[in-house]
Amino acid sequence: MIYNKDMQKIKRKSLLYKSGVEYADYGLNHAEGCSHGCTYPCYAMMMKKRCGIINTYKEWRTPKIVSNALELLEKEIPKYKDDIKYVFLCFATDPFMYQQKEIGDLSLKIIKRLNQDELKSICISKGVYPKELAKKDVYGYKNEYGSTIVSISESFRKKHEPFAAPIKERIKALKYLHDLYFGRLGQSVDPIKQERIILSEAEQEAIEELKKEKLKEEVKKNDK
Ligand code: SF4
Repeated sequence: MIYNKDMQKIKRKSLLYKSGVEYADYGLNHAEGCSHGCTYPCYAMMMKKRCGIINTYKEWRTPKIVSNALELLEKEIPKYKDDIKYVFLCFATDPFMYQQKEIGDLSLKIIKRLNQDELKSICISKGVYPKELAKKDVYGYKNEYGSTIVSISESFRKKHEPFAAPIKERIKALKYLHDLYFGRLGQSVDPIKQERIILSEAEQEAIEELKKEKLKEEVKKNDK
């Protein structure tokens, strides 16, 4: 894992915000930009460009960390906690950017802090979830972790999500949490364009794995 000690820092005036999305009523973004650099293109990057916050793809791919995120959270949790059902990480960046340890570490601290006040978090990432999240006594067990998988083809991933984690690494990390964890996990399989994908044996295995995990998730939901 790469620790980027030179990562640029920014300060924000606020962190938690009401999202207006039904599955996660609050959100937060503790980084500006995303090193995954998806080329679909990325909606968050387009919005930031439109607002004049960033100008180039290179700038978007060079994330800046919100250095006062924990400080803001400390002030904002008492203000909003009675209103919050879920906090979403993140609508405009990725909380576990691949090989960006500094961002991932801050995400862990944020989740831990939210959980201390029994505030649940929903994370979605194209990175690799750290094993540490399986510590139920630290992170609680009601969080939800998901991975967006647009295609199971690695060549597709390399072309369209050039700096995100390889698909197998994402699935492996989710499986690790799944096996040890009682929280909800999920894969969001979102095909975005049609193209003929020739699957290798390993990729077919990955699909089968995905199907099994999805099935288990359904069974779990029905058991509740
Ligand atoms: S992972 Fe999400 S936020 Fe990051 S570049 Fe890709 S689409 Fe954008």
